Amino acid sequence: MTVRQITIYGHRALAQPTRKVREVTDDIRALVADMYETMDAAEGVGLAAPQVGSRWRLFVYNCPDAEGVRRRGEVINPRLQRFGGLTLDEETLEGCLSVPGEGFPTARHRGARVTGTDLRGAPVTIEDEGGILARALQHEVDHLDGSLYLDRLSPARRREALDAVTARGWRARGLLTWDPSRLAPDEV
Ligand code: ZN
Repeated sequence: MTVRQITIYGHRALAQPTRKVREVTDDIRALVADMYETMDAAEGVGLAAPQVGSRWRLFVYNCPDAEGVRRRGEVINPRLQRFGGLTLDEETLEGCLSVPGEGFPTARHRGARVTGTDLRGAPVTIEDEGGILARALQHEVDHLDGSLYLDRLSPARRREALDAVTARGWRARGLLTWDPSRLAPDEV
């Protein structure tokens, strides 16, 4: 297993919709194993394939649910249902390993249910309401649809976020990826 480079805001892989996985090949298994390793190295709660430059429709997660129970797994070809009200909690900052070191209040539905399959082809259903996991599920499926949480911010917050991104200087430095085995998110 290998820690892969994580793509940064501005990388084209983050702006493209993903492709459905038709067959779990050795390449897919290796990708998922590396994504677990990469997520853990970055101490993230989730990681979607575009964040390691891949176009497959899958993500991994390692995240507490509303009861505080840590849940971990992979979902291939996820479908998302949102439920509960759309709420904006000003006290909770949403962050993303592809926008390292930043965080902004982001409106999300209280509940989320994702269905798909795991690496063995078994059906999986993950559901959470009111926990970090519910937010993470919505966040990861956004990645697979080619969007980022920054796209969900209010116009004022989005301007603030884009200023913060500019100030980080990733584009000016030509930085399209970062290495979580060598840096913490705030050091990118
Ligand atoms: Zn993200």
